[in-house]
Amino acid sequence: PLTTADLIEEHRICVCVRKRPLNKKELSMKDLDVITVPSKDVVMVHEPKQKVDLTRYLENQRFRFDYAFDDSTTNEMVYRFTARPLVETIFERGMATCFAYGQTGSGKTHTMGGDFSGKNQDCAKGVYALAARDVFLMLKKPNYKKLDLQVYATFFEIYSGKVFDLLNRKSKLRVLEDGKQQVHVVGLQEKDVKCTEEVLKLIEVGNSCRTSGQTSANAHSSRSHAVFQIILRRQGKMHGKFSLIDLAGNERGADTSNADRQTRLEGAEINKSLLALKECIRALGRNKPHTQFRDSKLTLILRDSFIGQNSRTCMIATISPGMTSCENTLNTLRYANRVK
Ligand code: ADP
Ligand code: MG
Repeated sequence: PLTTADLIEEHRICVCVRKRPLNKKELSMKDLDVITVPSKDVVMVHEPKQKVDLTRYLENQRFRFDYAFDDSTTNEMVYRFTARPLVETIFERGMATCFAYGQTGSGKTHTMGGDFSGKNQDCAKGVYALAARDVFLMLKKPNYKKLDLQVYATFFEIYSGKVFDLLNRKSKLRVLEDGKQQVHVVGLQEKDVKCTEEVLKLIEVGNSCRTSGQTSANAHSSRSHAVFQIILRRQGKMHGKFSLIDLAGNERGADTSNADRQTRLEGAEINKSLLALKECIRALGRNKPHTQFRDSKLTLILRDSFIGQNSRTCMIATISPGMTSCENTLNTLRYANRVK
């Protein structure tokens, strides 16, 4: 029979994939949609009908995840099956993490932060905001209300191994480990928040800070991990923490050969952190906490979220549908497949 421990372990890691629709650019260049989602947990990559050249030869490949979301799925629906169950975790004194992983342009920021593509910034419909909304709803439940919990938010980015506070004019922060193996981001602003609207304002502030001074917003954000956290405290002490992470784009292969030194170093750093992340999540699922947290700033900062008895995580692997993105899509699917 299943024990409680089995049940916890079974739900400890959720890995899903989300396909976005073909965009205008892909449609205008007549890119083919090579991805199908034949059932709610299967995604397939298909051999294109017209072979472009021999190096592009592809076989049909099938991947199974906890959930597979097709291109008609809304953020709200993706949220409901991924981050939503983790809101409970932080109320039960646990640590939760939710990652968006994938190629630049595949929909990570759209999923996590909301839609920033048009003139209207719609961060209310991203996973950050939806999670915040449900945290404030949960606070009203009698058994949580009596705990008198305070809610705080942080928003920072990790760029080339350095940490910048997105809620404090991008000030550079140091990461320190104390004698008790606790990791601290020194000086990180923890804003106390009383309602969803206040959180939305912080997301907007952080997001404009993230991209300010950049010639191309996506060029910069594709190279940094953005971490948004919702923290519950009880009488000042940590009760639970939810870290929601918009990871750097995983398409780094091209950087390694034909790029300047700075770009290559950044690429290497991103590869290293995504590898370390995979190992940490795998170890969490096997109940054998990984010890190589120091392999990257990202995993070092998230250390306490990977070792707790009551830690849960989900990964949303975002993929582009086009044949031109096939190699990156397959890399994303293989990575996500190995996380569990
Ligand atoms: P990433 O953060 O992975 O680089 P973005 O989230 O910025 O990618 O998405 C790239 C573009 O595609 C944006 O214009 C975004 O609005 C659009 N997009 C992404 N996912 C979806 C989706 N599921 N439905 C509609 N548009 C999407
Ligand atoms: Mg992005």
